[in-house]
Amino acid sequence: MRKKIVAGNWKMNLDKAEALSLTTDLVDALGALPENQRVMVCPPSIHLSSVGEVAAGSKVLEVGGQNMHQSGSGAYTGEISGSMLKSYNINSVLLGHSERRAYFHENNSVLREKVDTALALGIEVIYCFGEMLEERENETHFDVVSSQLKEALFHLEASQWNHVILAYEPVWAIGTGRTASPEQAQEMHAHIRSVLTQAYGAECADGVSILYGGSVKPDNAKEIFGQPDVDGGLIGGASLKTQDFLAIVAAMS
Ligand code: PEP
Repeated sequence: MRKKIVAGNWKMNLDKAEALSLTTDLVDALGALPENQRVMVCPPSIHLSSVGEVAAGSKVLEVGGQNMHQSGSGAYTGEISGSMLKSYNINSVLLGHSERRAYFHENNSVLREKVDTALALGIEVIYCFGEMLEERENETHFDVVSSQLKEALFHLEASQWNHVILAYEPVWAIGTGRTASPEQAQEMHAHIRSVLTQAYGAECADGVSILYGGSVKPDNAKEIFGQPDVDGGLIGGASLKTQDFLAIVAAMS
């Protein structure tokens, strides 16, 4: 049975004291979760060690990376590797966030390599993808999303999908305050699940958690998460505020 997941993407925000204070507040506030729910934060890589140590005091709060390089090691100044993540007990990583695609030129082919490197190391992948505004306006959004899935992920074996989470994030909704309507989110999530079903069968497709991301806030989370194919959210801005993030976590129930 697929899980409901709320993951916070802190992006390039918070200094050390702020990161530890937010983590401590979350650890203190999060009670036991139902068995089918998960909560994660993805801090900047420089904070992974210290945030991970604080989060280890909670049985509930998981910590993931925001990115990793496709190579195992080498002359890639400024990058971090999957084995570095593993060495800090970080077992999940965001890949393909639209900001990585836009500002760091990550395309589906590089992401395919990153996915393979992560999975080979036993790191769970949270694969982010979604259309740009002009693609929705010219009605190519379903095709764009299908290609982002196929080109980066459809070489995987069915069994590897146990270690992949999808995060559909329409670019026009990220950080803009403009959210996809619950109906638009459900329509695209159903499309994603049907593309998965065609490629891998219903049992595999039904087991994959598909998160929605794009200006999820406490006041819209419940309705979005209530859609049958929406299995939680990837949260940017609202994950930086303890009470907002906790309210969004509560909206999974
Ligand atoms: C994100 O960056 O993944 C995101 C969804 O951001 P926001 O919630 O701020 O739109």
